[in-house]
Amino acid sequence: MKTLLALLLIGFMYTASPVAKAAFTMLGSTPTIGGASVVCMGIPTVVVSPLNDIAYAAPAGTMFPFPAILLRPDVFQYPPVLQLFIYAHECGHFNVGPDETAADCWAIKLGRNQGWFTAASFPLLIQALGNSPGNSTHLPGPYRLAALQQCFLAP
Ligand SMILES: [Zn+2]
Repeated sequence: MKTLLALLLIGFMYTASPVAKAAFTMLGSTPTIGGASVVCMGIPTVVVSPLNDIAYAAPAGTMFPFPAILLRPDVFQYPPVLQLFIYAHECGHFNVGPDETAADCWAIKLGRNQGWFTAASFPLLIQALGNSPGNSTHLPGPYRLAALQQCFLAP
């Protein structure tokens, strides 16, 4: 418990942390997401509540001394393919950097190439993102979806 508190305080000192008083559940580096065992470069996944976004790619030193994929508990209420997309998007940040569109593109191409995201998955994505107004880092839903579709169709 003392360690946890220390980690939290370190998090606050480093940056405007994405969480306040948080509860953590460590899922390790091969979590089950959307019913599948997944892995992202050995980076551990932690369920964090509360979290101000559905998921977050936390570089070492922001939340923990190590890099981590943070998930809000309600991720697990999404359809499996969206759970996988969200996880892959965060993994994408560790591969392509902070750009949201690049992380989206990386994730959907991975899903296409691995076979868990197909053309038939798009309606679920449209349902989840279609009405999103966007924010300082994310394009509004329709633009984000158009970019995702372009990536899906690109080589
Ligand atoms: Zn992102």
